[in-house]
Amino acid sequence: MTLYERIFAGSDAVYGLTEGAVNDAIAKHGADKAISFPETAYCLPCYYAVTGQKIKTLGELKDGLATLKSLNSAETREANPLLSGVATALGAEFLEALKYIDGATPYAEPYYGHLADAIIRELGVPLVTGDIPGVAVIIGEAPTAEEGVALIKSYQAQGILVTLVGKIIEQAQSLNYNMGYGVRVVPLGPDITSVIHVVSVALRAALIFGNVTPGDAAGLMKYTAERVPAFVNAFKPIDDVTLSAGAGAIALGFPVISNETENITEVPKALLSQPDVSKFNQLSLETREIKIKITNIDIPVAYASAFEGEIIRRGDMKVEADGSRVDCFELVQMKSLDEVEDHKIEVIGNDFDAFEDGAKIEMAIIAEVAGKSMQSDFESVMERKFHSFINCIEGVMHTGQRDMIRIRVSQDAFKAGFRAKHFGEVIYAKLKSEYEAVVDKCQVKIITDPAKVTDLRKNLAIPTFDHRDERLGSMTDESVSEFYTCILCQAFSPSHVCIITPERLGLCGAVSWLDAKATNELDPNGPCQVVKKEHVIDEAVGRYEEVDEAVHKYSQGALEHVTLYSIMEDPMTSCGCFECICGIEPMSNGVVIVNREHTGITPIGMTFSELASMTGGGVQTPGFMGHGKHFIASKKFMKAEGGFERIVWLPKALKEQIADKLNAAAKEVYGIDNFTDMIADETIAEDAEALMNFLTEKNHPALKLSPLM
Ligand code: SF4
Ligand code: ZN
Repeated sequence: MTLYERIFAGSDAVYGLTEGAVNDAIAKHGADKAISFPETAYCLPCYYAVTGQKIKTLGELKDGLATLKSLNSAETREANPLLSGVATALGAEFLEALKYIDGATPYAEPYYGHLADAIIRELGVPLVTGDIPGVAVIIGEAPTAEEGVALIKSYQAQGILVTLVGKIIEQAQSLNYNMGYGVRVVPLGPDITSVIHVVSVALRAALIFGNVTPGDAAGLMKYTAERVPAFVNAFKPIDDVTLSAGAGAIALGFPVISNETENITEVPKALLSQPDVSKFNQLSLETREIKIKITNIDIPVAYASAFEGEIIRRGDMKVEADGSRVDCFELVQMKSLDEVEDHKIEVIGNDFDAFEDGAKIEMAIIAEVAGKSMQSDFESVMERKFHSFINCIEGVMHTGQRDMIRIRVSQDAFKAGFRAKHFGEVIYAKLKSEYEAVVDKCQVKIITDPAKVTDLRKNLAIPTFDHRDERLGSMTDESVSEFYTCILCQAFSPSHVCIITPERLGLCGAVSWLDAKATNELDPNGPCQVVKKEHVIDEAVGRYEEVDEAVHKYSQGALEHVTLYSIMEDPMTSCGCFECICGIEPMSNGVVIVNREHTGITPIGMTFSELASMTGGGVQTPGFMGHGKHFIASKKFMKAEGGFERIVWLPKALKEQIADKLNAAAKEVYGIDNFTDMIADETIAEDAEALMNFLTEKNHPALKLSPLM
């Protein structure tokens, strides 16, 4: 058989299976039975993306079979044989969707199956910054478990998100390989059909970030080919169904690399044979044109962003520095050039060998930096990055910041030779490479001497933090003469522009005004450009001539006007990776806010995913706005419509997280005590009626404000 004949045979086989399964399901449940994947606003996302139609019932699923048929018709096969592979993918999605009928949870550990919309939104920033430089899809059984795991590990060490399908998962398990979303190795499922769950991520990315119109199949494939850096590694033997699914991947622009050398014909840049599995990594990266950022760090364990989410359990740790129990802190301090000896790393106090297993230790990490363009405002910007710098060390976990950090070093890392000075190596290497334009010299002190840590915390760290807070608190939109753009997300959302002000951080939550300022300093032609604010058009809604000019210019003409403080009038656009989404609640004249982590329903009758799907892709949607968590207690939060007084509902966990700041701001601006007590959450109301009852009882201020619409 020729390559195409095999693809068609695979697609026919999947079609037959799908048709049978759909008919069986209808016979069992009836045509009106609802069907969908969990935690997505896109029903069957691949089918929706390709056709523009949302399938919600088994009856509609049956109707959808006609689309698969037409993709497999003789004319289509003649015109574009790869579309037969798309039919295979859609058939796989139908089969997978059927597994979720009746709210079933078909995938148990270690399998993930379907991935929620929230995961895709969370992937936005790491993908654009190159922290996740690509997505690997590994299918089938490696020649040996060791070779399979070596391949996984090679990608993981480069920060690439690895998804696994089929036997490779059992092989990794047989070697006790640690897998999970946290370490960026995601076992999707045992059957080839589960590959659709990663395809679904790619296609939803096009809808969420790319503003691709559902049903615009050509636009969709262009988007994935140009902007989603995915590729497939498929182990031999490749059967017809896998080959056909591979054709679907190729249609989306994802090359397929295999160790199969017989029975397949190579297609340049699309289907490649490489008998040696240890060469898959390099060939895949070259073919997909993925570049890896390399920082050489002299430590005895691996260092990669894939380890950022790694969790170290109590029983597995050698030492723990826990700032909530004992004195600990981390600090960046600006010094003059003659006070710093470059690359000097000093350990003051005992090294980890001196402590019992599981010991709680005092620890401070102080980086002293000097440079001609260094500013004290950048200290906090760099210091906040310690979290990610340290977390990327294999076998080390970091949470928190300032003097509320917690750092755990695992037994394994310790046994591999990881010691206190290696924190210094990591901080040194990362500060020098990421901030090379401002850090000329850097020295690091790691202090474990308890008396010294206590003294320095009290007399150096705390006063520094207090001083910084005062400065940040006094920084308002009025007090500065410039704002900044951020267009990092244009890699995925070509027309999206964030305008960053002191009181309004980027909607991803990761870029504050100081961050933007530092980014501009480091890379004057980079994503953060200065927006002078000289000509106010309307102060109340935050309309500035220069802001309009900037969004016009950096959106390549897609946007004309953006206000900084209104959700109704020319609101800022959203790319898709926002931490929270806010939407108006018409009954109360207020707004509900829901964060990415919250999966339940809101009183508007929509979940985070559904609300989030109303905006994004760099378009303006009055009434909906993506934003960062820290923006909620800002005095500029929808200031044009009356401000954060309009907030009527928040998920409980988020409410608790921001309560102190929000209550303090409400007291200051509106004279309201304990404002968060007036805001409902999921334990109080999940529908509009219960919400109104609660708000009326609490006499919530939004009820008295003028209508939003
Ligand atoms: Fe993307 Fe805006 Fe965050 Fe920049 S500030 S990374 S454009 S969401
Ligand atoms: Zn974004």
